[in-house]
Amino acid sequence: MNSLSLDLFTDAIDLVAVLLLALGLKGLSKVRSARTANGLAALAMGLAVVGLLIQLQPSPITWLWIAVGSALGGLAGVLTAQRVPMTAMPEVVALFNGCGGMASLLVAVGVALFASQDSGMVELVSIAISVFVGAITFSGSIVAMAKLQGWLDTPAWTQSSLRHGVNIGLALLCLLAAVQIPAHPAGWPLWLLVGASSLLGIGVTLPIGGADMPVVISLLNSYSGVAAAAAGFVVGSQLLIVAGAMVGAAGLILTQVMCTAMNRSLVSVLFGGALGAAGGSVGGGGSEAGYTRITSCSPEECAMALEQAERVVFVPGYGLAVAQAQHALRELAKLLEAHGVEVSYAIHPVAGRMPGHMNVLLAEADVPYEQLVEMDIINPEFPRTDVVIVLGANDVVNPDAKSDPSSPLYGMPVLEVEQARQVFVVKRSLGAGYAGIANALFELPQTAMVFGDAKAVLNGLLSELRSLGVGKAGAKEKVAA
Ligand code: NAP
Repeated sequence: MNSLSLDLFTDAIDLVAVLLLALGLKGLSKVRSARTANGLAALAMGLAVVGLLIQLQPSPITWLWIAVGSALGGLAGVLTAQRVPMTAMPEVVALFNGCGGMASLLVAVGVALFASQDSGMVELVSIAISVFVGAITFSGSIVAMAKLQGWLDTPAWTQSSLRHGVNIGLALLCLLAAVQIPAHPAGWPLWLLVGASSLLGIGVTLPIGGADMPVVISLLNSYSGVAAAAAGFVVGSQLLIVAGAMVGAAGLILTQVMCTAMNRSLVSVLFGGALGAAGGSVGGGGSEAGYTRITSCSPEECAMALEQAERVVFVPGYGLAVAQAQHALRELAKLLEAHGVEVSYAIHPVAGRMPGHMNVLLAEADVPYEQLVEMDIINPEFPRTDVVIVLGANDVVNPDAKSDPSSPLYGMPVLEVEQARQVFVVKRSLGAGYAGIANALFELPQTAMVFGDAKAVLNGLLSELRSLGVGKAGAKEKVAA
């Protein structure tokens, strides 16, 4: 194959890869198509690597490096994906973002070290951008992962204005190094930029509370795309530029969507300090004081209400993921459906600890996609709902978000479960959720608390319903009754 047809061939591969990537990103917006979309995106990445290898025509030694690197990286990826529990997915995403940032950083450093007199200004500026964004993404993502994992606390000094001074100082150092890179590509400015940007990534991420970390991870995901796009300019890969730009834009949109759904501005997340960090951001908790009109009931009473209901809505939250109760929930839903009950699941955009957390969790238990109903669609349905079961959710059903201007949640769209005839809230205590505040829903007359671990309560409900004979005679018996 001559060089012209080789170029055309690799361009065609790149084009197909970009189209597949775009289709993959589009498909990820729907639960039903997400699995296929993931496969398409993976295929796009595979094609991109093949196209690049054809273009570069590596030597046998380079082939060996590529083969060993791909095998080790692939193995690490497969083992991580297989072993990680669903609740630790944000940490894994943070780690993968960090790897993306590091890859772009290494590519740019590698090219800078071998830069020649012929290196153009675009390439040198791209090296500076790729190193800067790549290093911030890497160190910031590692800090984010360590904080979510509980390995790292928020140091007290980072909550004072001192941190702004430190970060501004580091940013100025980065600027100084970056403008010097075109003159000395492989010299001190490169290493100064690597060091100062890495410290800046730590300095910006360290003060942010664990509760805001998923937003930061989404932003870092966007940065990893920007770093990859800059690396694309460095090595002259159109595919990397396009793919990086798409990841950058998608990450930014997701960040904005999450901020809106959490009623937070990006500025307050990034510069507002560790809001929510003490409020039980990871495992719930918070104060139980202040409630005076709590009604609680046993799984038996809850089961009796379910047995009489015609329409039931489950509201899953972070606690359901912690309890790993999705399979028990699916079993309960099937039993109720066999009894003629109409069942659906109300999905709040930020229920859980990562975007799409509840969709993924319920999909794992084979809950039919059409039963997952988004907030805007299910809210008008609550007044005609007999029973709502809130499972390990708290902030996303707090009515103060609509009525109390002094609430930190005020303005956040919530699931209006209080409009249903009866509400059962399943959780272990009266402890707060992520926002660390009390929930007015718990004291409403139509609400009863069912205290306990979500899985244990669901199993209790299953055995109570079975002992009531639910599901045995089928739907017809219920309709006739
Ligand atoms: P939440 O407000 O954090 O409440 C979770 C509740 O689950 C806690 O009150 C806890 O109460 C209960 N719980 C914990 N373990 C349990 C178990 N084993 N069994 C039963 N209950 C258990 O959760 P949410 O309503 O899902 O709201 C999510 C919050 O996270 C929102 O404030 C959102 O803004 C924030 N957030 C979400 C994302 C995202 O992308 N999804 C990102 C960042 C922040 P007990 O301790 O009493 O059991």
